[in-house]
Amino acid sequence: MAEELNPFKEAQEQLDEAAEIMGLDRTAHAILREPKRQVIVNIPVKMRDGSVKVFNGFRVVYNDARGPGKGGIRFHPKESLDTVKALAAWMTWKCSLANIPFGGGKGGVICDTKSMNATEIENLSRGYIRAIRKFIGPKIDVPAPDVYTNPQIMAWMLDEYEEMVGHDEPGVITGKPVELGGSAGRYDSTAMGGMYVLREAAKMLKLDLKKTKIAIQGFGNAGQFAFQIAKDMAGANVVAITDSEGGVYSPKGLDYKKLNEAKTKSGSVSEYEGKGAQKITNEELFDLDVDVIIPAAIENVITKKNADKVRARMVLELANGPVTPEADRILFERGILDMPDFLVNSGGVIVSYFEWVQDIDGYYWSESDVYKKLDTIITRSFNDVFKTQAEYKARKKKISPRMAAYIVAVSRVATAMKARGWY
Ligand code: GLU
Repeated sequence: MAEELNPFKEAQEQLDEAAEIMGLDRTAHAILREPKRQVIVNIPVKMRDGSVKVFNGFRVVYNDARGPGKGGIRFHPKESLDTVKALAAWMTWKCSLANIPFGGGKGGVICDTKSMNATEIENLSRGYIRAIRKFIGPKIDVPAPDVYTNPQIMAWMLDEYEEMVGHDEPGVITGKPVELGGSAGRYDSTAMGGMYVLREAAKMLKLDLKKTKIAIQGFGNAGQFAFQIAKDMAGANVVAITDSEGGVYSPKGLDYKKLNEAKTKSGSVSEYEGKGAQKITNEELFDLDVDVIIPAAIENVITKKNADKVRARMVLELANGPVTPEADRILFERGILDMPDFLVNSGGVIVSYFEWVQDIDGYYWSESDVYKKLDTIITRSFNDVFKTQAEYKARKKKISPRMAAYIVAVSRVATAMKARGWY
């Protein structure tokens, strides 16, 4: 489905382009082109048949000038150090754009959780935390969930960490179950943040969300909540959705309950049964006659091969890195508004920040407080991006929203590094 590209090269390319436009200091640029710390670990895990399997894992802190490292852990069969490096870079820009006091980090383990049972996943989660223990902490680097990891996995990891250090330390990891110091509203926060961005972007395009047709790629955490929030809160019509096996298109709209039934019964939303519904491939999703496309699964799905076919007015990047730099340029030239990932999906880490604050304080907020504060921060980020774009336009320089977001984020990190005397 996704084109095999090197995401770290893309992340560097995007930074280089922003550095050029903003006239970034050369030393600051050199520091920001590479991660600060890369940890590679070997994790022996007891499997159900009594054997021991060795897994490879990574934890990268890209930059910590603005605060501790922050970012999720992926359990993915195709995980690689380069992917983790790219995602750690994007976390740096994400936290900086949101103006929360974190740097950027990311972790990953090469594994296929679909073929593992719960005990094996627990053993792996605990083993990974033992392996990276010296490099994490509430003031050092704070992991969280990401692709194929979840609150239960965060709970095992927290438990293992607290066993090792010998005291309660909920702020070491976010995205935990509420019972262990997780934040209200964290689980659907990525999608919720994305919907606040969609609301602002729709205002800008004068798009009536109630008349808007949406196609979503991905039926994981972000995709499922995006579906429900877009439909129930914004009143939009979600007409297509896919997962890794393919999906379904129904011009009249899709029903969430039926999607769930199809997923539970057959493992894929493509088996959805409904009047007027037709099967589609992941490729076909991108040239549907819709107003908004929401890639909410994995990286590199809109590329130079299909960017020309996109008919939507807006792409809302809820996944990390779904649009390649070349596709980004094509969409921009075609006048399609491509809302960048590290703005659109920053809701997750913003509520992780709230969780960290609540854990440190030992005082917990209501869900409505969390959503209100999330809305304030992400709307501020949205405004920062489009104000910067307008400032460049006034100087006769046309830049994409992604470049504007980069300029805001990179200049904040550069200012912090400068204040620290790193250059
Ligand atoms: N994995 C999420 C992301 O990519 C959340 C990270 C976090 O909460 O630290 O933004």
